[in-house]
Amino acid sequence: MHRKTVAVVDLDAIRENYALASALAPQSKNIAVIKSNAYGHGIVRVAEALQEIAPAFAVANINEALELRSAGISRPVLVLDGANDIQEYEEAAANNLQLVVHTVEQVSQLLKSRLSGDLPLWLKVDSGMHRLGLMPDDLKSTHDRLRNGGFNVAVLCTHLACADSVASGATKQQLDRFKACVSGLDLPLSISNSAGILAWPESHADWNRPGYMLYGISPMTTEVDTAAGLRAAMTLRSEIVAIREVPAGESVGYGATWTATEPSVIGTVAIGYADGYPRHAPSGTPTLVNGQIAPLVGTVSMCMTSIDLTGHQDVAIGNSVELWGQGVCVSEVARCSETIAYELLTRVAACVPRSYTP
Ligand SMILES: *Cc1c(COP(=O)(O)O)cnc(C)c1O
Repeated sequence: MHRKTVAVVDLDAIRENYALASALAPQSKNIAVIKSNAYGHGIVRVAEALQEIAPAFAVANINEALELRSAGISRPVLVLDGANDIQEYEEAAANNLQLVVHTVEQVSQLLKSRLSGDLPLWLKVDSGMHRLGLMPDDLKSTHDRLRNGGFNVAVLCTHLACADSVASGATKQQLDRFKACVSGLDLPLSISNSAGILAWPESHADWNRPGYMLYGISPMTTEVDTAAGLRAAMTLRSEIVAIREVPAGESVGYGATWTATEPSVIGTVAIGYADGYPRHAPSGTPTLVNGQIAPLVGTVSMCMTSIDLTGHQDVAIGNSVELWGQGVCVSEVARCSETIAYELLTRVAACVPRSYTP
């Protein structure tokens, strides 16, 4: 069956973006973050595309890690949220996973289990984001408990809350706190996410954790030179299924939220919020038809969206419409919709087939 709505994923772009992350931080190893179905791009295909160049992968939970193992991915896999019960610790050890440990409760569970050395642990410190991580004052004692219990603390890590803003003072404060509490432990460190890699060289450490930038978008709130080489990996596209002339004064779509001010040519596109296109995208949000901008008009429906084709030459039913990709940056669609592109990418619905190049 011909599918009108497709997310085309350029695996070569993902490999190039990974190479850029490596080039920006030549002293660091980069663990490729492919949680949430590789930010919507398809976790197994992305892992397969990167396994020759990425020494390890990071996912959010054990289920994602097991999906990689079932698909035959043999690289080390780090579970960022860690495990929650004995069964998950055992599954992690049996599948050669690595776990983030971020609470003293997790440490107590681990010490009660019969596991030890062969389960590499990343001990996480809360340096100021206040989401996950041990309090800095608890780090040394927790580390000692694990070491005395025979566990292998492989890396000390933390996560940056505001690295996407070059103007924020929070990053320096987090770096100072982290560096103060890890001093004396002499273990590999991990701090940077994509924004850290792009904008905060002082956050580059033994292991960086690029996610978002692998998919070709800059997380920075302002433009930075280091992001210039990124190439968007996903093109979300659909097709025009109807075209009509709408006289001035007539409205389009649910709630009649857009009214033609001149005789207009309106195309109906086979994509809506059920596919993951944001319902909050307002009139004026760009789409691209035959290389020319066609602004969205009216309210996005469940399976359809209307666009303004007035002034377009030779446009026809069946023509392809790019909702985002190389021509329309997903960050721009996100900005119009008052969200971030992380959300748009991860919300492309499972019903939208992914197709891969090359
Ligand atoms: C998601 C995540 C990353 C990757 O962040 P990006 O902004 O996508 O690069 C890194 N570290 C942790 C702990 C994460 O949860």
